[in-house]
Amino acid sequence: MDCIFCKIIRGEIPCSKVFENEKFFAFLDIGPVNRGHTLVIPKKHYKNLFDMPEEELKGYMEAIQKVSKAVMKGVDADGVNINMSNESAAGQVVMHAHVHIIPRFKNDGLKLWPQGKYEEGEADKTRKKIVNYL
Ligand code: AMP
Ligand code: ZN
Repeated sequence: MDCIFCKIIRGEIPCSKVFENEKFFAFLDIGPVNRGHTLVIPKKHYKNLFDMPEEELKGYMEAIQKVSKAVMKGVDADGVNINMSNESAAGQVVMHAHVHIIPRFKNDGLKLWPQGKYEEGEADKTRKKIVNYL
């Protein structure tokens, strides 16, 4: 399959591998937000969170936690942001599911998520729309 992350898993493209087990694989992001920025991916090709079967999710989160702890210690970070972009509108560029572990350092100057606010009644309308699908 012509997927860059599948090629990395198969060893056809080099990467800075940090972790691998039976189902998951982690390597340094080639364009780090901060040093130690790591991607954790399932070895099986899934486009993103929406097509990952439930039975993969526990192991995925365990791998993410394990790698996050190592990243924290390894680069002496003060925290991590864990981000997963799902679909192009959310900034997903590589269409193989991946979670970013972004080490954070006190005063690293990175500002995330500009926030807005709800008008009167809008939060409840929005909540109802979401709850309809649960
Ligand atoms: P996203 O925008 O969430 O799809 O993120 C894709 C990420 O993959 C980006 O942060 C890229 O820097 C990273 N990336 C793309 N190609 C490679 C590669 N060959 N090795 C390591 N990271 C890569
Ligand atoms: Zn793939």
